Amino acid sequence: MVIVLKNNASPQKVSELTQRLERSNVKANLVEGVHSTIIGLIGDTLHIDTEAILANECVEKVQRVQEPYKNANRKFHPDDTVIDVCGRKVGGGHLQVIAGPCSVESEKQLMQTAIACREAGATMLRGGAFKPRTSPYSFQGLRMEGIELLLKAKKETGLPVVTEIMSLAHLDMFADVDVIQVGARNMQNFELLKALGRCDKPILLKRGLSSTLEELLMSAEYIMSEGNSKVMLCERGIRTFEPMTRNTLDISAVPLLKNKSHLPVVVDPSHATGLVKLVGPMSLAAVAAGCDALEIEVHCDPKNALSDGSQQLTPQAFTQVMKKIKALAEFMGKPVDDVG
Ligand code: PEP
Ligand code: MN
Repeated sequence: MVIVLKNNASPQKVSELTQRLERSNVKANLVEGVHSTIIGLIGDTLHIDTEAILANECVEKVQRVQEPYKNANRKFHPDDTVIDVCGRKVGGGHLQVIAGPCSVESEKQLMQTAIACREAGATMLRGGAFKPRTSPYSFQGLRMEGIELLLKAKKETGLPVVTEIMSLAHLDMFADVDVIQVGARNMQNFELLKALGRCDKPILLKRGLSSTLEELLMSAEYIMSEGNSKVMLCERGIRTFEPMTRNTLDISAVPLLKNKSHLPVVVDPSHATGLVKLVGPMSLAAVAAGCDALEIEVHCDPKNALSDGSQQLTPQAFTQVMKKIKALAEFMGKPVDDVG
C-alpha cells in the first residue's frame, strides 16, 4: 500500500501516522521525493482501513498495490480450486451443467423437468424453493416443501441439487442440499456470507445486479475468511442501459475472474439475458470463454411457469442446446462430465 502525503504535511503528523501504522504490524517506509513524499507499507495490509488513513489531515491519497482479497486470490493459490459435489468436479478441467426450473412449483413439474434435464445430459439440478421476487404479490416459492421436492428429485435422478438461500434464519433447512446458492440480491448480505463460511458446503455465489468483480471477489472472501473455501463465482449479467435484454452478460468476467482467482466460474445465461433465444448462444460463448459450469433454467411448460417463463427453455430446446454445449466443450478440451 502506498500513502501519498500532502506537500504541507507537518513532520509531527507524519511521524504520528507512521507510528500508528507500525502498531498494525506493517513496516512503514518514508520516501521523500523531489515533488512528493510517500509512505510505502510493507507486510499484510489487508486489515488496514484505507478510508481511516485518508481521513488523516496529512494524507493526499492512498493506493493499494495488492488486491484486498487474499483467500480468493490466485497469487496465493496458483492452482485451480476443484470443488467436489457428490462426485461431480467443479473447476479444473471439467464442465458441469446445472439445469432445472426457476422455481420448484409442484412435484409433477419438478420431476418431469428433472428427468428431462438428466436425459439431456445435465449434471446437477437447480430449482428455487425460496424466491427473491421484485413484487411481494408474486409467487414466493414453496419454501421447505420445495427443498423436500428437490431432495426427492435427487433420489429419482441422482442429480445433486442447487438451491438458493435467502435468509440466515433458514440455514437449518439446507442441511441436505448439495450446493447452496446465494442470489444476486444477497451478494452483499455479509452476515449470511459469514454464516455460510462456517458451514461445510459448496456455495454458488452470484454477482450482484450492479456489483463490480472486485466486490464479487470480496464477497467470496467473506465466505472463505470464515473457513469455507468451496466457493463458485457466478456471472449472471449486470444492469446496464440496454433494455432489450434483462441484464447484460459480462462475458469478459469469465477469463478475468479466472485470472484473478483460483475459484471455479459459473455462468447463468438465463438471468443474464432473460430471453430463451439467447440462452443457447450465450451458453456457447461462456464455454468458449472458459467457464467451469453453466446454470440454465429449464421448465417442462415455460408458458405456464410461475416465474421467469420467458427465459426458461423447454426440455426439447435444452436438449438441442446441450448437444452444442457438449460438442464445443469437447473441442475446448473441457468435456461435460458424463454422469452415465
Ligand atoms: C435464480 O437463480 O433463481 C435467481 C433468482 O438468480 P439471480 O439471483 O441471479 O437473479
Ligand atoms: Mn429465475
